[in-house]
Amino acid sequence: VKTRRLHGLALVDGALQRATLTIRGRRLEEVARCERPSGGAEPISGLILPGFVDLHVHGGAGADFMDASPEAVRAVTTFHARHGTVALAATTLSAPSSEVDAAIRAVATAHRNGRAGARLVGIHLEGPYLNPSRCGAHDPSALRPPDAEELASWLGEAGDLPVMMTLAPELPGALDLISAFRRQAIFALGHSEASFEQASEALAHGARHATHLFNAMAPLHHRCPGLPGAVFASSSATAELIADGVHLHPAVVALAARALPGRAVLVTDAMRACGMPEGVFSLHRHRVTVFEGAARLADGTLAGSMLTMARALRNAVQQAGLPLEQAAEMASGTPARILGLTRSGRIAPGCDADLVVLREGSLELERVILSGEELDL
Ligand SMILES: [Zn+2]
Repeated sequence: VKTRRLHGLALVDGALQRATLTIRGRRLEEVARCERPSGGAEPISGLILPGFVDLHVHGGAGADFMDASPEAVRAVTTFHARHGTVALAATTLSAPSSEVDAAIRAVATAHRNGRAGARLVGIHLEGPYLNPSRCGAHDPSALRPPDAEELASWLGEAGDLPVMMTLAPELPGALDLISAFRRQAIFALGHSEASFEQASEALAHGARHATHLFNAMAPLHHRCPGLPGAVFASSSATAELIADGVHLHPAVVALAARALPGRAVLVTDAMRACGMPEGVFSLHRHRVTVFEGAARLADGTLAGSMLTMARALRNAVQQAGLPLEQAAEMASGTPARILGLTRSGRIAPGCDADLVVLREGSLELERVILSGEELDL
């Protein structure tokens, strides 16, 4: 087993501090605070952070998890790993049962067979139990009311991978579904017209998370606080933010992060076109035009993002003005905790040796170390 040591400014226990990290094989063996490199440690000039964990990602580099092939899974995980994502929840779109099933099977198979790129640590079923009036880029004809039998079969296909499901809690049967499956799935509220009361009731039934907060939901109004209001009023609900400068105003990213300490996470919601030249792409049954960093349907509806996690973190710091430590927590520690991952999202002994190095100041991604191995960026 190979052992190597890195020394530099690392995010350990929520603070940047000089430390020597000992990597043995795929794991971090030791994390020692010390001012100077010792024991042949390689000096690192940038900032060493835990690798990123993305709870919501559909695709990238021309591939989408809905393609349901080993090649597509490999293309997406490899692309995002090169942008600092070390673990991700493969995210599906609303589609006929058999197509969602095929996507889950492709991800579960890749998970069992070992992997290339970011580790597959979950499946995020985004739909199909969504409100057609807030469908965003989901195919409206694929949306339907909750179906317990269908969800049970998808959970079976997912095997031991944690499953998150985005649903609209106001649909008939949604609260019963949450109550019945709250221990087998992490229910996330989204693509929803839910009132504050309806969303609060869903949280009381066991829903725990909000999907791309503010996007594809009734907005927060001071007399009608809606789903966002229910998340802010809750003491435990977590929420995703798409910090691409298009989906949310940077001030909203900042206020949500402040209002939800330890509960807000950065996600990409990246789609097939992420990492590709701008142009026209397919998104399930839609055509999507990518122009000036935004993917839109013909009517202007946003259809996923062009974000990478490295870019999301940089935007959270440089556009929204969040402290780096907080933005890093939103990109790794908090999402890892939401999925119940114990060896990801932290720089600590026993954790996976999944690290990113950012240039100080510009926060450009310089290096990615995944399972102790340096990636070619
Ligand atoms: Zn969505």
